[in-house]
Amino acid sequence: MRIKPGVRVKGIGPEMLFAWPVIAKVYEEFGYECVGTSISDGRHSKNSGHHCGESMDFRTRHVKPADRPKIRRECARRLPGYIFKLKTKPALHMHVRCPGRVLI
Ligand SMILES: [Zn+2]
Repeated sequence: MRIKPGVRVKGIGPEMLFAWPVIAKVYEEFGYECVGTSISDGRHSKNSGHHCGESMDFRTRHVKPADRPKIRRECARRLPGYIFKLKTKPALHMHVRCPGRVLI
C-alpha cells in the first residue's frame, strides 16, 4: 500500500482513512499492490468529493482487466455505503467516494 509521488494527503476524511486499508487488503488478496493516485490533489469536477476529502483514486492499470470489476465488487461488499467506480479518464483508476453530509 502506497501513494503515488505528488499525491496530496492533506484533508483526507476519516471515512477514507478507514476505507483505505480495507481497499488495500482487497488489492493484495487479488495479488496486486494498492497505489493511491489522488486524494485532495489534481483536477476534479466542481462537486467532486476530492475537494472535501471524501474521495480517493486507486491505480488499476496494473490490474488485469478481468480482475478490475472483481476488485470493485469485493471492495463494495466490504464497504457498504461507499461508491466505487471504474474510470478510464484521465487514466485508468478506481474512484472511491464515501458520501457525507452533502449527499444525505
Ligand atoms: Zn476520483
